[in-house]
Amino acid sequence: MIPAEFDYQRVSSVDEAIAALGDGGEDAKLLAGGHSLIPLMKLRLAAPTLLIDVGGIDELRGVAQADGGWRIGALTTHATLQDTSELGVVSAAASQIADQQVRNCGTIGGSIAHADPASDLPGVMLAAEAQFTAKSASGERAIEAADFFQDYLTTELEPGEVLTHIDIPSLDGWSWGYEKFTRRAEDWAMVGVTALVRASNGTCEDVRIGLTHMGSTPLRATAAEDALRGQPLDSEHIDASAGHVADGTKPPGDLNATDDYKRHLARVLTARALRTAAGA
Ligand SMILES: Cc1cc2nc3c(=O)[nH]c(=O)nc-3n(C[C@H](O)[C@H](O)[C@H](O)COP(=O)(O)OP(=O)(O)OC[C@H]3O[C@@H](n4cnc5c(N)ncnc54)[C@H](O)[C@@H]3O)c2cc1C
Repeated sequence: MIPAEFDYQRVSSVDEAIAALGDGGEDAKLLAGGHSLIPLMKLRLAAPTLLIDVGGIDELRGVAQADGGWRIGALTTHATLQDTSELGVVSAAASQIADQQVRNCGTIGGSIAHADPASDLPGVMLAAEAQFTAKSASGERAIEAADFFQDYLTTELEPGEVLTHIDIPSLDGWSWGYEKFTRRAEDWAMVGVTALVRASNGTCEDVRIGLTHMGSTPLRATAAEDALRGQPLDSEHIDASAGHVADGTKPPGDLNATDDYKRHLARVLTARALRTAAGA
């Protein structure tokens, strides 16, 4: 399909992007890797009148250590994350996004701002308790991942805001597991699970579980977390925790899987991810 007509502006700084968003009004859209927005435009599900191409803004690109954790520029590609193995679960999840061509173009900022609940990185961000920074004409603000994802393809970002970077707090002492179930290799997740575990002498001191495609937004599985925190990290307690992972979720049924099957998948994948994280 051919998208509706639009104007195109390439910018070279965040401030230029913010000014262009202001001038373009509510139908202006930022273009990063274009691998979510352009397909929507081709299907005529989105029809921005102005595309502001941020692809040339070097200040938005890169991965650096910061305050014991990591700061990732919004324009950093999935391929760069994949190649930065020190990022642990973030790198592992990025390496499972689609194929290398998509990973070479798609960006972490685009994935987070687009907020597709089937995307890999948003669930990881929830489990990692990441913080997103957005800049606009009225200044800069930080938004916790837990507050960011509001509904299907809907986030806390205001019109006029540019997501500039993502801060991932130190995950020293945490081990992780990432499980993604697809019908075919390189597909979107039917369900995905991120598990982070902090253990001491075989006991779960703390645990965080992020879910992909189990609702209209990425989710934290708090009931499953509560069931494991303070318990021995053995098969019995891991399975008991995984049994709670779908509590309160409303996974969207689709051509690939019914909602019940997704709940089943979530339980199986959570047990696997927790076992990997716990080394059990
Ligand atoms: C064939 C195919 C398969 C895919 N499979 C997967 C998959 O398995 N898993 C997965 O997670 N993803 C998958 N994707 C999506 C891919 O990861 C996208 O690239 C990503 O979700 C969006 O990033 P982008 O840089 O392409 O964003 P764009 O498409 O450029 O933008 C997406 C949205 O984010 C906004 N935006 C972009 N950057 C910013 C910013 N800095 N500040 C504010 N708003 C911004 C744009 O205005 C737009 O609304 C797939 C895509 C394709 C085409």
